[in-house]
Amino acid sequence: MRQAPAAEEGGRDWQPWAILAVLALALVAIVWLTHPGERPLAKRTAESGLPLTSEQKSVDFQAADLSFEVLADSERLNGRAVLSFLVKAPIRKLQFDLDPELPISRIDVDGGKLDRPGWENDGGLVTVRLPEPKRAGDRLTLAITYGGRPHVAKHAPWDGGFVWAHTKDGRPWVATAVEGEGCDLFWPCFDNSRVEVGTVTQHIVVPKGLSAPSNGRLLGVDQLADGRTRWNWRASHPNNYAVAIDVAPFRLAQHIHLSRFGNRFPIQYWYLPGEDRQAAALLAEMERTVDFFEATIGPYPFGDEKVGVVETPHLGMEHQTINAYGNAYKAAPEGYDWLFDHEFSHEWFGNQLTNADWDDMWLHEGFATYMQPLTLEWLRGRMAYDAAMFKERQQIANTHPIVSGLHQTESYVSDPQRGPGTDIYYKASWMLHTLRGLIGDDAFWRATRRLVYGRPDPRPGNFQPRFASTDEFVALASQESHRDLRWFFDVYLRQARLPRLVVGRIGTALTLQWRTPGGLPFPMPVEVRVDGRTEVVPMSSGHGALTLPNAFSLVTVDPDSKILRQSDAIDRFRADPASKIPYGPS
Ligand SMILES: [Zn+2]
Repeated sequence: MRQAPAAEEGGRDWQPWAILAVLALALVAIVWLTHPGERPLAKRTAESGLPLTSEQKSVDFQAADLSFEVLADSERLNGRAVLSFLVKAPIRKLQFDLDPELPISRIDVDGGKLDRPGWENDGGLVTVRLPEPKRAGDRLTLAITYGGRPHVAKHAPWDGGFVWAHTKDGRPWVATAVEGEGCDLFWPCFDNSRVEVGTVTQHIVVPKGLSAPSNGRLLGVDQLADGRTRWNWRASHPNNYAVAIDVAPFRLAQHIHLSRFGNRFPIQYWYLPGEDRQAAALLAEMERTVDFFEATIGPYPFGDEKVGVVETPHLGMEHQTINAYGNAYKAAPEGYDWLFDHEFSHEWFGNQLTNADWDDMWLHEGFATYMQPLTLEWLRGRMAYDAAMFKERQQIANTHPIVSGLHQTESYVSDPQRGPGTDIYYKASWMLHTLRGLIGDDAFWRATRRLVYGRPDPRPGNFQPRFASTDEFVALASQESHRDLRWFFDVYLRQARLPRLVVGRIGTALTLQWRTPGGLPFPMPVEVRVDGRTEVVPMSSGHGALTLPNAFSLVTVDPDSKILRQSDAIDRFRADPASKIPYGPS
């Protein structure tokens, strides 16, 4: 892109060696781009959360029975997926999503083999013409045999696919991470967060000596005649993108946890050999974190399956009951593992409670990010909470609203050029901190509990995974605090810019005024400390005033930093190229 101005400026002739060098570079680029597994994805396959087709809306996706043969040496995957549906409205065909780079060799409909033109994969959307039309109330089973080289993630988990890595002693270490692009990168599914399959069973065949921990409960491990093993797992209502394959010579650290809610469940950590000491420490951290989250939010949502964490070559991902952990036990001055904490809280915010649309993704990431300072406050006291909040504050960008009010795909929301990007983490976390300060702990946690479980009194066995939207949380927070809080969320979630508090002082007269984008109402009370005494200025019409004891009174506005608001200091810091914005969770 810089060549044209250079030619205009100098009119230099290109030397043959330079042309050869450019051609060689172009060749390298082409080879790199077309290397198997690193090819660009089909447009539809790359997106997750596109609207369901009318046929997809006409069925209830009840079960997926997935058989995988993981061929680590050749980086290939063979799959057979048996998908079971209950038909709700008449259909003559059905569609599902699958990466076209994993060709389908056979489809059986209700046990009968379909002749070849009976299906086509058009850019990632597979259409199957049914031999007979189906009516409401009918059952339909598709068995899909497919395989090939699954898409390889270049920088998981920020881009999705398979990660083919090796342990220090050269054995396979395989993982998947497909949140951004969706389940269709390696199994036939409806790639929309709104569809949770009732039951997902996996049968994962792996090379001799390797293990394949996965979602849900272990049904058993079969020994195959050729020395390989088949790992059979079953999970209820997993998010599509949470279905995961992990393969390595794992060891298992396990503890049976007695919950404060009276039930017992296993806590499992699958880790690489040679890390027994670190694994024992992480298992202990998992135990105490489970208890903190249960005490704070409510019962662990998948107590009839397990708490599961597996060591991965990539940083992390909230795979239901088999969370990815790739933080390499890094030491931290806070004395906790932020990556484990963040991903584990997604069992509540993401897996139990799933966003109704990706436009509501802050419900996953904002709460998960806010659980980190809350964990630190419990472990280490207020300094650790405040330090974590200050680090998060510096990462808030305010370029796009967190919630658009429109249907969105995951890639839109994650892209800071088009959507909110990491503001769904840090800004949403700070908004929750501000909300908690405004309505108090009791109302905050009652609203959160109803959001997560759909009821105020969750107990093991009395709730199911659920979907929720931003509007539902706004209503719950309003109900539980007995006030209409729409003004609060309208400013923090639906506007890009932060509210600004304009403070004026002449002699003993102190004035405060909220300025919001578009002049939106913002009756946010403000604490002011005057000579060591704190008063609350109600700000009910967006402004307020105080008369100070004398002209030399020392004044601190919002002395406990309860309110997320525009800050000149942070804006200047973020705009300064020499600044180092702290790297935080993601
Ligand atoms: Zn997250």
